[in-house]
Amino acid sequence: MNESYYYNYNPSSRAKINRPAGRSAYQTQARQRAGAYPAHRARPAKRRSMASVYIARYILLLAIYFVLMVVSALGMAMLLHFGFGGEPFVKTEPVMVAAAAPPAKASEGVGYEEYVEASISNLTFKLDLSEYEEYMNPSDRDAYIKLINQTYTIEKDFKPDDLVNAPYVRDGVVTPYLRLYAAKALEAMLSEAYANGCSQTLTVTSAYRSYDYQQFLYDYRVSVYSYLGEEEARKKAATIVAIPGQSEHQTGLAADIHTLLSADEVFENTYEFQWLKENSWKFGFILRYPKDKTHITGIIYEPWHFRYVGRYHAFKIYESGLTLEEYCELTGLGLD
Ligand SMILES: [Zn+2]
Repeated sequence: MNESYYYNYNPSSRAKINRPAGRSAYQTQARQRAGAYPAHRARPAKRRSMASVYIARYILLLAIYFVLMVVSALGMAMLLHFGFGGEPFVKTEPVMVAAAAPPAKASEGVGYEEYVEASISNLTFKLDLSEYEEYMNPSDRDAYIKLINQTYTIEKDFKPDDLVNAPYVRDGVVTPYLRLYAAKALEAMLSEAYANGCSQTLTVTSAYRSYDYQQFLYDYRVSVYSYLGEEEARKKAATIVAIPGQSEHQTGLAADIHTLLSADEVFENTYEFQWLKENSWKFGFILRYPKDKTHITGIIYEPWHFRYVGRYHAFKIYESGLTLEEYCELTGLGLD
């Protein structure tokens, strides 16, 4: 038997192709019908093709099934979320990240206070700062949280009675003073900053300011914007230099710290700023006027302005990402 019978098999002209020499087409077909040729040996090709059709159909059905499953799952999810009338009847609560937001009251939030206590104790520094511990983390925790802004103002004749010479102040600063705890904590912060690779040019360019000095700074800034007209000049100036009575520099708890000739937003691009941003809470300081919070603080982004509040509150503010305004409103502290 000739092997080419099988390999040349052509179902549309079986007889013709399979016909051995010497037999007529009729004879060959008759013999095939009679089973003379193992026609089934030629069939595998057809069987394979049928199998692939079944597989294709099966895959198609599976695909349709999955599409229907996905569509119905989506529909169910939307129904659960939006309900029948647009009001969600299965409300999705935001995932609470432990300690991300401080509780409304210090006593609230199970485990949060323990977390805070653990976070603010036994910090390690490159330098031995043990003698500064009380200043960085004052035992009277709420003594330095006072909020000063456009709403909560400070009296004209207020002057702290514990002002001392602040450390690392640049030459030419008119009133280089801070309150004792802020000054000591600042000394610890900047010496540790230098130990961690910060430039020695990272220094204090403004510290305590009297009401009158703030008035001088504010009037100067208004004169710079006088081309805008009196009212607009005052508005614009107030976003950059606080109106007298609204500056926390008068509390003796705030310091402008940077490496530039004059305070500028580009300070945020420096290693020194990044270090302060991440570490200042350890020394009791917060970045007081963060980026994109002007609508809350009323003051432009000031990457150079740090405010002493003590480590306990500084940590909570740092952790939560809240401004001092929000933190004080939330806790009820510093508003008197
Ligand atoms: Zn400042």
